Amino acid sequence: MKKKPILSLTLAATLSIGTLGTGATFAKPMDSVQAPPIHVVDHKVINKISAENIYQTIKHLSQQPRVAGTESEDQAVQYIKEKFESYGYDTEIQEFTFVGYTAPHTVELSIDGSDEEFQPETFTYTVSGEVTGGLTYAGLGTKDDVESVDLTGKIALIKRGSITFAEKVLNAAEKGAVGVIIYNNAEGSLSGTLGEASEDYVPAVSVTKAQGEALTAKLENGESLTATINVQGASTGEKTSHNVIATKEPTKPTRANDDYIMVVGSHHDSVAGAPGANDDASGTAMTLELARVYKDLPTDTELRFVTFGAEEIGLLGSSHYVASLSDDEINRTVANFNLDMVGSKDAGDLVMRTLDGEPNLVTHLAQASSKRLNGVATSYGQGGRSDHVPFAEAGIPAALFIHSPTEPWYHSPEDTIDKISKEKLQDVAEIVGGAIYYVAKFDSMGPKPKAPKKQKAEQELYHEQNMK
Ligand SMILES: [Zn+2]
Repeated sequence: MKKKPILSLTLAATLSIGTLGTGATFAKPMDSVQAPPIHVVDHKVINKISAENIYQTIKHLSQQPRVAGTESEDQAVQYIKEKFESYGYDTEIQEFTFVGYTAPHTVELSIDGSDEEFQPETFTYTVSGEVTGGLTYAGLGTKDDVESVDLTGKIALIKRGSITFAEKVLNAAEKGAVGVIIYNNAEGSLSGTLGEASEDYVPAVSVTKAQGEALTAKLENGESLTATINVQGASTGEKTSHNVIATKEPTKPTRANDDYIMVVGSHHDSVAGAPGANDDASGTAMTLELARVYKDLPTDTELRFVTFGAEEIGLLGSSHYVASLSDDEINRTVANFNLDMVGSKDAGDLVMRTLDGEPNLVTHLAQASSKRLNGVATSYGQGGRSDHVPFAEAGIPAALFIHSPTEPWYHSPEDTIDKISKEKLQDVAEIVGGAIYYVAKFDSMGPKPKAPKKQKAEQELYHEQNMK
């Protein structure tokens, strides 16, 4: 195994923009530093970038949602592959499977002895079934709470809080409960996820805090209530998603960077119901455009342009990609530029997010290129929940490029092509394109990466769902 080259990050800073603020939540824009002229080599990249190309690709991809494991995702994968190939790339489709969940079409709850009209919600990964049993209060549903309660053949009534929904359902089921009702501990309805599929679940639904407390009061009064839960149409099953990988080998390896790999990536899947023009056809289309621009540029660094599947259900494609790398490839990979939501008219300014909030080679290169191009260095801060996370966890310098704050129609049917700004697309593509070129340009003596540092991700999925 090859040792990762250890080189100073401050080299990048010194060469490009003077000084960098470090450690702060957001680096200060370095207005006080005189903007150097756009480096002549940047023009080799930025003059070729066409926001119109990116826009047209977004328009094509965002005709329909691209949910992981569905036919529409497959169509997007084929389209991306053909585009890469039309630019002259050898393109690999990397397949992986995951357990997919189909939400129920029917979720009902009725309770004999209560005239309340329930409109229960349910939890992702709940199982189908129609079950009836005596309603029995089981506190927070912890192991201690269920220990002294006879739940055999019963429907457990459990309060939200303290442990995950999945733990509550499993604890009750283990004690013989045939169904679970979880009531909220805050105002409003309650929906969330059990996190993963399990054969040990029983049907589980949620009710509001007021409804749960009313039922608890009746039970405490000694009333006997019989509950019926009906969940139909929920299912889990193995599904297939894909990453698309286009690789540009070094034009001619040279002494400086000849064994480095830089990865430009984005996710091509969307959430259900959302055409995903900005999230993330924008990043996908930009990845394709940068691949096109770089195809005929002399470079001495291996460039990989990758679009990932199944990001929205837990960063599955990028995790699979990183897991498929050899130790040698991980050591040689010096940067991951993650483009996710890079073109909305209605979002704020471009920022970069790193998993630990600290600067790394990617943020340094992009701060330098943004300073060269715009006179102001793009800010960075802490953030996970996208495809840079598996890279960062493997010790690879990685950053998410995103506009902040995000637009209100993120993850909605309104995430459509008319909300896309060509100016923003051009700006981000130039910054990222220039940042990559600083290292990848032929015969570069440019900055080298810092030694990797292991990072631990927060326990959260990109698709924000309650687990507790
Ligand atoms: Zn996204």
